[in-house]
Amino acid sequence: MQIGKILFPITTLGPGKRVGIWVLGCSRNCEGCSNPELQFFDASKDISVEEIVQFIKTLPCEGVTISGGEPFLQTEALKHLVCELREAGIDDILIYSGFTKQELENMNDPNVDFVLSHITVLIDGPFIKELVDDVPLRGSSNQKVWLFDRRYEQQYLSCLTGEKKVDIFQFRDEIHFIGIPFKDYKKIYTKYIKTR
Ligand code: SF4
Repeated sequence: MQIGKILFPITTLGPGKRVGIWVLGCSRNCEGCSNPELQFFDASKDISVEEIVQFIKTLPCEGVTISGGEPFLQTEALKHLVCELREAGIDDILIYSGFTKQELENMNDPNVDFVLSHITVLIDGPFIKELVDDVPLRGSSNQKVWLFDRRYEQQYLSCLTGEKKVDIFQFRDEIHFIGIPFKDYKKIYTKYIKTR
């Protein structure tokens, strides 16, 4: 599976301390996309699903969030990943997709159907800059939060009623802002961050 980055712990894209997996590849080119560097496929970033899950098993995570890029452009690998995560006992899986749920269902792809029936939440639809609102977890108001596993209803409801927040990861002089950004977040946070 072509992967852009894997980070832990993230606390802004779903309940609890989560592993965030960002896949590579997306052709939508939404204006204002927060991950433009992840839009291109790169075969040199191919990692086996087994390796990813082995790594995740070493972490005390409470869930996994898969974003990108577009996760549903690698449907076979995505199905394999979801299957392995569930087998590893990770039940809370959130996926972001630029496709709507309806578009995914219309693909009539057994891999897609498997994924949709084994995840907790799908947040669907492209990011539309003009529709940004204050709701945490999603980027713009056209995106819907589909809860497929009611065991997690309370946890997701409390995420959705909080405020928009971002986690900050710094690797040497590289800063990663993780979460659904609010207006001017970079200006506000970079004030507090020292770089080399
Ligand atoms: S669908 Fe997501 S990753 Fe793809 S361009 Fe739009 S915002 Fe970026």
